[in-house]
Amino acid sequence: MRPAILTPLFASVATLPGVGPKMAKLFDTLLAEPGREARVADLLFHLPQGTIDRRNRPKIAEAPLDSMVLIQVRVVEHRPPPRNRGPHRVLVEDDTGDILLVFFKANPAWIESSLPMGATRWVSGKLENWEGHLQMVHPDRVLDEAGLARLPPVEPVYGMTQGLGGRLIQRAAEGALARLPSFPEWLDPAFLQQRKFPAFGEALRVLHRPQTPQGIDPMSPARQRVAYDELLASQLALVLVRATSRKAGGRGSVGDGRIANKILAALPFKLTGAQTQALVEIRKDLAEPERMLRLLQGDVGSGKTLVALLAMASVVEAGHQASLMAPTEILARQHYERMLPLAEKAGLVVALLTGRDSAPQRRKTLAALADGSIDIAIGTHALFQDSVAFRDLALAVVDEQHRFGVHQRLALGSKGEAVDVLVMTATPIPRTLVLTCFGDMDVSLLREKPAGRQPIETRAVPLERLDEVVHGIGRALNTGAQVYWVCPLVEENEDLDLAAAEERAAVLRQFFGDKVGVVHGQMKGRDKDAAMEAFSKGETQILVATTVIEVGVDVPNATIMVIEHAERFGLAQLHQLRGRVGRGSGKSTCLLLYKGPLGQVAQARIEIMRETEDGFRIAEEDLRLRGEGEVLGTRQSGTPGFRLASLDVHAGLLAIARDDAQLIFARDPTLQSERGQALRVLLYLFGRDEAMRLLRAG
Ligand code: ADP
Ligand code: MG
Repeated sequence: MRPAILTPLFASVATLPGVGPKMAKLFDTLLAEPGREARVADLLFHLPQGTIDRRNRPKIAEAPLDSMVLIQVRVVEHRPPPRNRGPHRVLVEDDTGDILLVFFKANPAWIESSLPMGATRWVSGKLENWEGHLQMVHPDRVLDEAGLARLPPVEPVYGMTQGLGGRLIQRAAEGALARLPSFPEWLDPAFLQQRKFPAFGEALRVLHRPQTPQGIDPMSPARQRVAYDELLASQLALVLVRATSRKAGGRGSVGDGRIANKILAALPFKLTGAQTQALVEIRKDLAEPERMLRLLQGDVGSGKTLVALLAMASVVEAGHQASLMAPTEILARQHYERMLPLAEKAGLVVALLTGRDSAPQRRKTLAALADGSIDIAIGTHALFQDSVAFRDLALAVVDEQHRFGVHQRLALGSKGEAVDVLVMTATPIPRTLVLTCFGDMDVSLLREKPAGRQPIETRAVPLERLDEVVHGIGRALNTGAQVYWVCPLVEENEDLDLAAAEERAAVLRQFFGDKVGVVHGQMKGRDKDAAMEAFSKGETQILVATTVIEVGVDVPNATIMVIEHAERFGLAQLHQLRGRVGRGSGKSTCLLLYKGPLGQVAQARIEIMRETEDGFRIAEEDLRLRGEGEVLGTRQSGTPGFRLASLDVHAGLLAIARDDAQLIFARDPTLQSERGQALRVLLYLFGRDEAMRLLRAG
């Protein structure tokens, strides 16, 4: 049972004042884990990425260019756009100079009312010099004295998503802070004192209401405190799991190869050396009485899924069942559809279980899982709801794509007495990271690509040459090719030149009509699926997408990937996106459309993309560049699986947390002491409650 004091934090964000159902959906997009809605705790763990320091209030003449400033001005003149084209400008001044405020596509009535002629206002934003004139494009605030008084002097800046801007997040975060209970202290008092850490709740308050820009520094006591707690929760969960899984022992599944051989015989190709090697490793683990915890790493298209199928076949040969869990419904369905023909030839019974099955369908599947007539269940997290019981689950395969979550894996693990676990991931992860996220997991690598793959031709093209690109695409479409066109996420209202997926689709439709489909993160699940499906069936030939296709469907006919504003994406993301093409035997192309001039880091990224397709090499280069470059998107930055800790800066804390967890376990293995009870709260808080379940069972 989750401790009662955590209940308010596990409520939906929709329970917060000012957060309606529509906004709650946006929070889901920004913060939620797959399969559940965003909670108050998710919002509390969504820490500001930076601050705006509004204590800086210069006169116009002294104001620095290109950094956020807050200036007191008088409104002198309104210059609406001639014939409604171009920006609306407002001239403002103080005793030392004047500024043009520039608004694109803004509502004139709003401008008139917030900047009345002759009034004194505070405006904040970045000043720039445009053809000899000072201007401020889209001030982020226009306030009167009363408004200014309400503004915090140092304002937190959050990672955002389309439609959910900084101010809304701030307001919601305030509501979330008001729900903070008084937590019992789970850290050792001497350690706390030595580190000068605040209490956990206090630390969150400090981080969401920074008094100075330094307040949210990764090495500030508050930030270290919460990072440490997150690391300790994960390390403690790993220690508990390791202890119980050792105790649980394994199954010792030894297949005789009769099903796997039929699958191999049905394939039009041979396994790569890397696939064969990985299978040897996996089968050895399966045969041993210890529980398997193995990571199968390899780029998109390296053939992991096939390895997983063969591993599952081994388990079925030995008389048991296996499951495969995918991060999304679409992917689960795709795994199912691709495995089905092979499975049928080999006499395997495979079933799909998702959250959208009808009630009778679901009952039927559940019954067949329980009586063992289904050999392999493929599904989403719906697989590990409590109502799902297997007759004899021996192997759980988890396809993580690019997400990580030890706790989901644990939940599946708890479905069988001694379930072997194989995790597939397309993200190349350095060894240290494997240790943190997965504990002492073994690793199989698929570094070699299947034979017959043609290299993807990668080209960098400046956006000014969009016309040529569109023409080239027109020619390719005539030959039946399919095209992904990726646009970066649109942030609040700033950069207006940022190509929104919708806008781009509209432009492409002028050329290609209804051959153009769109999919983006704000679409409903069903609409998203429908758009994806139309594309994979070839009903649409161009799919304009935000990065949601990152974990997308396999469309072998898609041979062209256009990434617009490639300079805004991180290397890892570019690599994953490019991996969507080049999956069939046709020749594929990746066009990196960039807006110049390119910064050094963006240039380096594009160079690397042109040089190599090796995900491991790209991951190394990414780590090297990341310190200097900014990586777009909130999920992309930081350490996978962690929200408060970032291993670049908190690696030192990790080592301490690991020792701490071991010591705790040695002294109080069932967490009975007073500190043990508090640690239970910690585990629940960070969603490591499956570890708790094991604790009870053990
Ligand atoms: P991953 O799961 O790593 O993304 P898949 O298992 O989906 O990769 O494989 C991608 C494609 O390559 C599939 O169409 C699969 O049938 C094919 N494939 C897998 N292994 C080989 C191989 N050894 N030789 C040729 N094609 C292969
Ligand atoms: Mg795959």
